[in-house]
Amino acid sequence: MSSTAAPTRYGIDRDALATLLDGEPRYRVDQVWQGLYERLARPEEMSNLPRALRERLAAALPEALHPITESVSDRGDTVKFLWSLAGDARIETVLMLYPDRATVCVSSQAGCAMGCGFCATGQAGFTRHLTSGEIVEQVVRAARRARDGGRRVSNVVFMGMGEPLANEAAVWGAVERLHGDLGLSARHLTISTVGIVPGIRRLAERRLPVTLAVSLHAANDELRDELVPINRRYDLDTLLAACADFLAVNGRRLSFEWALIDGVNDRPSDAVELAALCRRLKPAAHVNLIPLNPTPGWPTTGTPPARVAEFRDRLVSLGANATVRRNRGTDIDAACGQLAAATPVDVSSPRRARTDTG
Ligand code: SAH
Ligand code: SF4
Repeated sequence: MSSTAAPTRYGIDRDALATLLDGEPRYRVDQVWQGLYERLARPEEMSNLPRALRERLAAALPEALHPITESVSDRGDTVKFLWSLAGDARIETVLMLYPDRATVCVSSQAGCAMGCGFCATGQAGFTRHLTSGEIVEQVVRAARRARDGGRRVSNVVFMGMGEPLANEAAVWGAVERLHGDLGLSARHLTISTVGIVPGIRRLAERRLPVTLAVSLHAANDELRDELVPINRRYDLDTLLAACADFLAVNGRRLSFEWALIDGVNDRPSDAVELAALCRRLKPAAHVNLIPLNPTPGWPTTGTPPARVAEFRDRLVSLGANATVRRNRGTDIDAACGQLAAATPVDVSSPRRARTDTG
């Protein structure tokens, strides 16, 4: 699945592993695979293997992610990992623990080429695509951290750095591995897109019914062209038609993401236009509202809480389903749109200073 020459620990597929283990008893392939995916173990920890083999595996299958820092907020319920990757790229991963689920937010690219001005990742520009192995390993490393606290990862959202549908093959390779080998339910895997229409159409044809989140942020083309530049290529009508077709396939779920920007897309007229778009889909799309998080390169601020609630109530009264998403990790720049993979000033790792926010 990974196209690079030297596979990483979570990039190698079973056939390549079998080749690597040539000369060993055949059951070793299963043992290693179970070690990697069921026990989330490092080769060094695979005590059912002979020591020499453990050492050989550790060297032949290097980890793809090298920790730079780990930051914690929300009393330990949000953890942001900053990693360095081959070629000196940097990415971030966020683990969020809720009472009823544990979610990992993964990056699909180092940087992003889509240029949405309000997003820290977009402001930083594009570095490179991630491989499937680099995406899967983010989940495994976060799942180990969750396990230390007695928790099991149940959900993965492709809402970290990058546009997943601009790196489709690697993202889909990761989805299959997360579903087939880590055992996550397809519906609990959410791909968030800025609105790459051909990608949405191909997603509808894939065999696994993953959940789709479409980052809408504006419900008329004039405003969306400005906020989300890809709208100039795929306008709202084209996007809505692809969303409708996606929902027409059995078992598919879709939501709209809407970052509320003060005075920009939080007016009564925005709610009216958005509710009308939601009603065009069957079943009507669910809207996730989130006040815009601050980023260094964007002057406008998020809508204050009272008006966020007002906007939600207006949507609901217009027949749309809407919920306000709780913001996580703003103090450690781990919230939506804040991931820029910048190294904090204090690089002593792990960074665990700030645990005082709720
Ligand atoms: N590229 C994909 C997925 C990564 S962005 C996409 O755009 O959907 C994850 C989510 O964060 C998207 O819904 C995006 O619109 C949102 N986002 C970006 N910048 C934000 C900000 N400053 N505040 C709140 N949400 C933001
Ligand atoms: Fe890229 Fe998504 Fe950020 Fe837009 S919002 S720049 S698509 S990561």
